[in-house]
Amino acid sequence: MIRLFNTMTRHKDEFRPLDDMKVGLYTCGPTVYNYAHIGNLRTYVFEDILKRTLSYAGYKVRHVMNVTDVGHLTSDQDAGEDKMEVGAQREGRTVWEIAQFYLDAFRKDMQRLHLIEPDVWCRATDHIAEQIDMVKALEAKGLTYILDDGVYFDTSKLDNYGKLARLDLEGLQAGSRVEMVEGKRNATDFALWKFSPKDKRRLMEWPSPWGVGFPGWHIECSAMALKYLGARLDIHCGGIDHIAVHHTNEIAQTESVTGQKWVNWWMHGEFLTMARRDGDQKMSKSSGEFLRLQLLIDKGYDPLAYRYFCLNAHYRAQLSFSWEGLDAAAMAFDRLRKAAIELREHASAQAQPIEAAMNEFREAIEDDLNMPRALAAAWGVLRQSDSPPDQRWATLVEMDRVLGFDLPNIQMPAAKVDDDLARQVEDLIAQRSAARKAKDFARADAIRKQIADMGIAIEDTPKGTIWKKA
Ligand code: AMP
Ligand code: ZN
Repeated sequence: MIRLFNTMTRHKDEFRPLDDMKVGLYTCGPTVYNYAHIGNLRTYVFEDILKRTLSYAGYKVRHVMNVTDVGHLTSDQDAGEDKMEVGAQREGRTVWEIAQFYLDAFRKDMQRLHLIEPDVWCRATDHIAEQIDMVKALEAKGLTYILDDGVYFDTSKLDNYGKLARLDLEGLQAGSRVEMVEGKRNATDFALWKFSPKDKRRLMEWPSPWGVGFPGWHIECSAMALKYLGARLDIHCGGIDHIAVHHTNEIAQTESVTGQKWVNWWMHGEFLTMARRDGDQKMSKSSGEFLRLQLLIDKGYDPLAYRYFCLNAHYRAQLSFSWEGLDAAAMAFDRLRKAAIELREHASAQAQPIEAAMNEFREAIEDDLNMPRALAAAWGVLRQSDSPPDQRWATLVEMDRVLGFDLPNIQMPAAKVDDDLARQVEDLIAQRSAARKAKDFARADAIRKQIADMGIAIEDTPKGTIWKKA
């Protein structure tokens, strides 16, 4: 039995999909106007673990992820500029080029972190007709109104608007004056379709029954989730910043159109924060404190060390990023990789995973994806030296289906191989010197041969023994 925390009910509920062993999963994808930062990637790592856990349990997961390439404004209040247009101006390229470039960069990061790609990638700009149809349906139900700058959803028409975030609607209304778009009836109303400015052409715009313009950000997820996953959905994920606005508005739109409950499980990943002198802050593109996976790689970290770093914290706990923390994760990951490679020597086709260890692991992942406990179970197997090594290896391989390090194929990085070799050679040279000092020349010769067999040539000089690869 898998228990998953549901943001809607606020507790861990036993997971049951709508359709026996099939699971529909929608995860909000990247806005492709810039690189993803490692905070964004933390959320995608959590979603990857969720997907792997469900697959491991035997479910057939259909995963849909959108690509936001229009309509995501710099302010959540339907004001500001379109992030895509800002990106295009910044780089002197077209919005289409920007979208393709940053989507490719994102997919490369996914590969490096071993994130399994979705079954369906869908771009907002490829689904303008579906979004317009949805706005039409909302209009036909009398839920919209038109202002100078766009078509808006009237959230006061719904009885249960804000149920996901348990919004205090009256409080929001009272405190909202500053940010409100002129004419907006309620603080929580949001744009479904925005008009192009009268005095300038946008880079991306489309005709619609209400005027030339572009879709609001939230409508894309509703329209594409409906198209690819149907009117009811098992799980919808994102980062916790999506609860109050984006997901709340997705629910308002979708349930208004379908007339029924849409999503059974809402799951949200907590933030990656950055330690600052004035306290921890959410990592965000706008704040400037924005680390990319590439930077970690440039500094010599294996991207999988970052995956390990993420798995070391529960997805519902905030995780504070620091280089010391990453160093510790990188060291632990290195040890795990090395121990796994040693065990791999003992692989045998007949060996079965160790039942007790697998039970421990399964209990951890099935308890709302408790990866710190799952990692501890994997370490338990590595340390369990009294069990047959082929069984220990079989156990690790099984666990790796969820951990996602690809242990069956993993290699030590070249630099590490050299390091290890150097340490072994130095160690043997020291043993040989000790043997010679003790006048045990037979042993000294045997060690010399052992070193030569490793492909290393040694030379005794007045300053000591030096060595190089033969
Ligand atoms: P975006 O590309 O900005 O739409 O964000 C992509 C995903 O990253 C969304 O699910 C966000 O909720 C999530 N996210 C944004 N900032 C962070 C952060 N600091 N830590 C974890 N997830 C984040
Ligand atoms: Zn979304």
